[in-house]
Formats: sequence, C-alpha cells, structure tokens
Amino acid sequence: MKIFIDGRFYSEQDAKISVLDHGLLYGDGVFEGIRAYNGRVFKLREHLERLFDSAKAIALTIPMSLEQVQEAVLETCRQNELRNGYIRLVVTRGVGTLGLDPHRCKNPSVIVIASTIQLYPVELYEKGMEIITVATTRNHHNAVNPAIKSLNYLNNVLAKIEANVAGVKEAVMLNAEGFVAECTGDNIFIVRRGVLHTPPLHTGALYGITRGVVIELARQHNLPVQETTLTRYDLYVAEECFLTGTGAEIVPVVRIDGRPIGDGVPGPITRRLVQEYRELTHRSGEPIWPEAGGGTGN
Ligand code: PMP
Repeated sequence: MKIFIDGRFYSEQDAKISVLDHGLLYGDGVFEGIRAYNGRVFKLREHLERLFDSAKAIALTIPMSLEQVQEAVLETCRQNELRNGYIRLVVTRGVGTLGLDPHRCKNPSVIVIASTIQLYPVELYEKGMEIITVATTRNHHNAVNPAIKSLNYLNNVLAKIEANVAGVKEAVMLNAEGFVAECTGDNIFIVRRGVLHTPPLHTGALYGITRGVVIELARQHNLPVQETTLTRYDLYVAEECFLTGTGAEIVPVVRIDGRPIGDGVPGPITRRLVQEYRELTHRSGEPIWPEAGGGTGN
C-alpha cells in the first residue's frame, strides 16, 4: 500500500507521523471517509467540501487547495490501483509542542490512505441489524459540534463500547435533550405511514453525504421526506428503520432496544432504497482514470 503524506508517497511501513502531532496528542484535526466504486470516487466533491468546512470550523488552514486535495485522492487511488475501496483522508493540526495551543503547530499534515472496508457482514444487509439506544449523550453542538468531522471521535467510541457490551453492532445516540441524533458512524432514518423521517441536523448529527443522497433519491420517487425531531418512542413504533453512511451504505435495522421494527424484517421502502443506492454508486462519481470517463460526474 502506498500512502500519501504531504505531497509524497510512502510504503505502509514508512508512512509515519510525529508523536508530537496534535492530531495524535489532542485529536486535533479533521477527516473524511470516502468510497470508490468501479473506478470512480463517489461524491468526491461533497466530501472535499465537508472536509474544508470541518477544517474552517476548527480554524485549521489546509495547506492545499480543494483541487489539489482532490488530485491527491485520485492519485493515491491510481498508485494503489484501487477501483473499489475505501479512502481515508486526514488533515492533522501538525507537529506542535506538548501544550495544546494550536498556534504552535505551523504545518498541518494531509494524509490519504486508499484501502478497503467491510463494516458489517453481508448477511446483515439481508436480515437487518439490531441496535440499541445508549446512555452516552451525543456531543452538544456548543462543545464539539457533531457537524465537524473531527479526529476526536471519543464520543462515538464510548457509544460503540456500549453497543459492544450489549452484543449489538451499532448504537443510537440521543442528544442532551433526549432526542435522537445519530449512530456512532451513521445517520438514522425511519419510515412511518409512508413518510421517511430523519432527525434535523441541529439535533446533533453529521451532515451525512449518504443521508443527502437518500433524501434526493426519495424525492425523485415522490416518497415524502421530513426532517423531524424524533424520540425513542418514534423509533419503537416505526414501520421501517435504516442507517446511512459512506462505509455502511444503507443498512436495514430490524430491532431497537429489544422491540422488533415493523415485521422484524427489512421493509419494502428500505429494500428499494438499498437497491437504488447501489445502482447510483456504481454509475456515478469522479473517474480515477481518464478511460473510466463518460459518467455523470458527482
Ligand atoms: N455520522 C457519523 C458520526 C459518521 O461518522 C458518519 C460517517 N462518516 C456518518 C454519520 C455518515 O456520513 P456519510 O454518509 O457522509 O458517510
């Protein structure tokens, strides 16, 4: 594997970052998880824009233009001959002192890793997943805004530990007021009386790119979508539920806190969206190699 760090490619063994990097010392930095399908990077522009927005929110100046970062992502895929896989784009605050003041960090680092990911076993997509709500509260937007995709993921890790302890694969986090925010690595949707509902972003969720694609797909098919404040009750009485994320794609949820959702199997609307999302990912995106061209762009 060849890894991009600050303009150069390194073998996995030699790809190293200083122990004085504030990304390591304080989780001070931002990242993106991106997917490539069939030689194209899906929604690359959206991921790059979110990365730059996250960086701006933490007053981190990325030492490359958006176009340069885009080219670094595509070139890393080429160097690794990656046609299908998962790309991790990381920007750290850079090397500083042991104090946390970011002013001491003069050179943020840009890292691109092109690899693979399998978040959940294949059969989960057929049978559906069981999840729970957890006691770990989603970060308050005045503390670390969940819209910032920062390297500080402890809030999510703590919730994931609760899921692990309970023997399930994902956890729903509620915000400080008890409203449904999102899962540790995915946004959440429910279907109720033919309407798709997902929490509004201000309840404490990442501005999920897959979430946006699902909303767009639903609207194209005249399926009403509402951004609604949801409580645990709304989850329990939902007819269908699914999670969305770049890594997870669309995962049906069939049990929450021990309550079966709908008939306890993935519902028709979820199945349709899973299928349509799959089709879309395989026919659009930024070509990695010029010969893959002729697509619809992002
Ligand atoms: N919420 C969180 C906390 C996440 O980490 C992710 C995955 N990056 C998502 C939601 C889904 O976002 P996206 O669809 O942009 O991958």
